[in-house]
Amino acid sequence: MMSATTRFAPSPTGLLHLGHAHAALFAAREAGAEGSFLLRIEDIDASRCREPFVQAIFDDLSWLGLSWPEPVRRQSAHMEDYRAALARLDGMGLLYPCFCTRADIARAGDAPQGPDGPIYPGICHSLSVGQRAERIAQGVPFALRLDMARALAETGPLSWRDLDQGEIEARPDDFGDVVLARKDTPTSYHLAVSVDDALQGIDIVTRGMDLFPSTHVHRLLQALLGLPVPVWRHHPLILDETGRRLAKRDNAPSLRGLREQGLSPEQVRRMAGFA
Ligand code: GLU
Repeated sequence: MMSATTRFAPSPTGLLHLGHAHAALFAAREAGAEGSFLLRIEDIDASRCREPFVQAIFDDLSWLGLSWPEPVRRQSAHMEDYRAALARLDGMGLLYPCFCTRADIARAGDAPQGPDGPIYPGICHSLSVGQRAERIAQGVPFALRLDMARALAETGPLSWRDLDQGEIEARPDDFGDVVLARKDTPTSYHLAVSVDDALQGIDIVTRGMDLFPSTHVHRLLQALLGLPVPVWRHHPLILDETGRRLAKRDNAPSLRGLREQGLSPEQVRRMAGFA
């Protein structure tokens, strides 16, 4: 593809570090000179996202030399889009409410681990319509889970194309019955990303290798929701000198900090792997 629409989609939960710079520059390069590089703010998690970090994302990426069209899509302003997608899946009989706490799931025994945590052991899957209605009426908080077996029966086998690894058989069942709407916010990472990438016309989804497994779920959601299917490219993660991936929580040096130390945008781009 000569030119494409790509995006960098950070969550404003801290200052950007070199790993983010790599991801943003990677997405911009994939867009190509004639393409379109978009910025999206993934702020569905109100308890962890902070407004000053949104402004810092704009400032630090501009300083790095990147630009993008306005308006920037902010997920928190588009809950209606996610609600509509959930309504469609619900209409297909593919969702069920789950009232379990983490402790309930842990108590249920040693559930095998999936890419997002323990595979849900199906406790609430077997509740009757009456039991569900009763708990909802009592105000018990609930998440919405995808009935994975039914969803797969609906779509049949799926595959997706990674630009580096070729055609990949989709294995969303590794995740079990994933949460598509959380108790605290009426969407989830998987749902919001799939809906947004389609609405924004993203044709190459670029992101880190750590999110490679999530692509299986996104491919399934695209099929269920009748969304266009992009191609993907997953980049290796930047590691620190001890070989560990950079993370906000480990105080990886922020782009802001490097700038304050007097480094130039060119130097930081080089440190992020883009000469
Ligand atoms: N918002 C996600 C993150 O900050 C990235 C989402 C994606 O690229 O699919 O890790």
